[in-house]
Amino acid sequence: MKPTGMHEACGVIGVVAPGREAARLAFFGLYALQHRGQESAGIATSDGRAAYLVKDMGLVAQVFNEENLSRLRGEIAIGHNRYSTTGDSHVRNAQPYLIETLHGPLAVAHNGNLTNAAALRRELLRRGVGLSSTSDSEVIVQFLAASAESWGEAEEGRDPWVDRIRALMRRAEGAYSLVLLTRSAVYAVRDPRGFRPLVLGALEEGGFVAASESAALVTVGARYLREVEPGEIVRIDAQGLTSFVGHPPKNPALCIFEYVYFARPDSRLEGRTVHLVRQRLGAELAREAPADADIVIGVPDSAIPQAIGYAHALGLPYSEGLIKNRYIGRTFIQPDDALRKNAVRLKYSPLAANLEGKRVVLVDDSIVRGNTAGPLVRLLRDAGAAEVHVRVASPPVRHPCFMGLDMATYDELIAHNQGLEAIRTRIGADSLAYLSLEGLLRAVGKSGHCTACFSGDYPLPIPPWLFEVDREKRIFEGVWGEG
Ligand code: 5GP
Ligand code: MG
Repeated sequence: MKPTGMHEACGVIGVVAPGREAARLAFFGLYALQHRGQESAGIATSDGRAAYLVKDMGLVAQVFNEENLSRLRGEIAIGHNRYSTTGDSHVRNAQPYLIETLHGPLAVAHNGNLTNAAALRRELLRRGVGLSSTSDSEVIVQFLAASAESWGEAEEGRDPWVDRIRALMRRAEGAYSLVLLTRSAVYAVRDPRGFRPLVLGALEEGGFVAASESAALVTVGARYLREVEPGEIVRIDAQGLTSFVGHPPKNPALCIFEYVYFARPDSRLEGRTVHLVRQRLGAELAREAPADADIVIGVPDSAIPQAIGYAHALGLPYSEGLIKNRYIGRTFIQPDDALRKNAVRLKYSPLAANLEGKRVVLVDDSIVRGNTAGPLVRLLRDAGAAEVHVRVASPPVRHPCFMGLDMATYDELIAHNQGLEAIRTRIGADSLAYLSLEGLLRAVGKSGHCTACFSGDYPLPIPPWLFEVDREKRIFEGVWGEG
């Protein structure tokens, strides 16, 4: 099924686990990061001699089994969950990418999106480097492999990869949280603005882990250490962690949508537990847009903390009104037309006993294209709700994202094209309110984020033509890459 609706950012993990099968740890780490991408999954390992790779379309549990995990030999590994931001879901775009280079094998897993991938791509092609996909992540791999900085053998005692990564960081613009695997080390790299998260943990039995989110550290039995800093390169090998300045940091711009929707509630971002920030989003929303109602419900799972925060701030009962099917995942069975029209019903069922005759506040984390809220309101009314007041715990999404989220084009964003009252009518709510940008920033409690999808303030120059072209063209130009 061609993906519809918004897409997640990708998830990455890197593992150095002396004396253990790193692939097994990477597998469970990817399992914990499944929410960040469900289209394909992959793990690359090295045993110090050769590198191994398994990747395929599907969920982590569908791609891996005992047989192929046992082929992934070695004590170091990287892994990737992908949700394509291209329309073309094909295994050739699955990650990690693994190639052979002058300095041995190189595997790369990327979360983010380069805004100047088209220029880098042309440069590689001019240098005679062939490319096999349209992905900006392949551009990163080839740029690292073909870096003019270190053609020829590395100097004695000098890490050729650090030089090559630095050379990439001088040229790459946009969002990249990377984990790289070489013959004997894993590197964790974050772009100078830190658009996408990346954290480090220490394994109890020895060794280290880098992961998109701290929740994955808990899963693999690693203790949270710290974030990879914007602009930092961290080498992880048998000797431990070594930090290098990859590029001087620029103004910090962690994606604020990680707080709104993407990250797991039990993950920690910038020292804050995401669940608690989401409760504050709900509390801010309650102050800005209270409702006269009997119960408050959230759209599971991502808007539950916001609904709790909203209810608590107004002294209203928080209740469950929608049950989400936990196993819906990504189905390859096409619904027929009638089911497709009611796609939301495949995912959510109303809890009529809690709704009958009630004035209900329905809290959701975001409205993007506006395809979800309307059917949910109808579902609640059909189940007997007397009134439905929709409260959105983030501002209207009015601008596309070029930093690794598939925030569509202007045309697709309902709040770019319609005002509040038109959206309220369209979704059939008795009232509708969004959180303000100020309220969002207050709840996060720290400055220095990318808020472009809400504010239109892009933290870096976006080539104007990127706004003009449609998605197919972007794919063709190869600038629209991996989540
Ligand atoms: P809409 O139908 O307005 O396009 O989508 C909004 C709904 O999608 C919200 O319930 C929100 O929780 C969810 N959502 C927001 N961002 C994403 C995303 O990146 N991926 C997916 N699958 N859902 C999202
Ligand atoms: Mg949702």
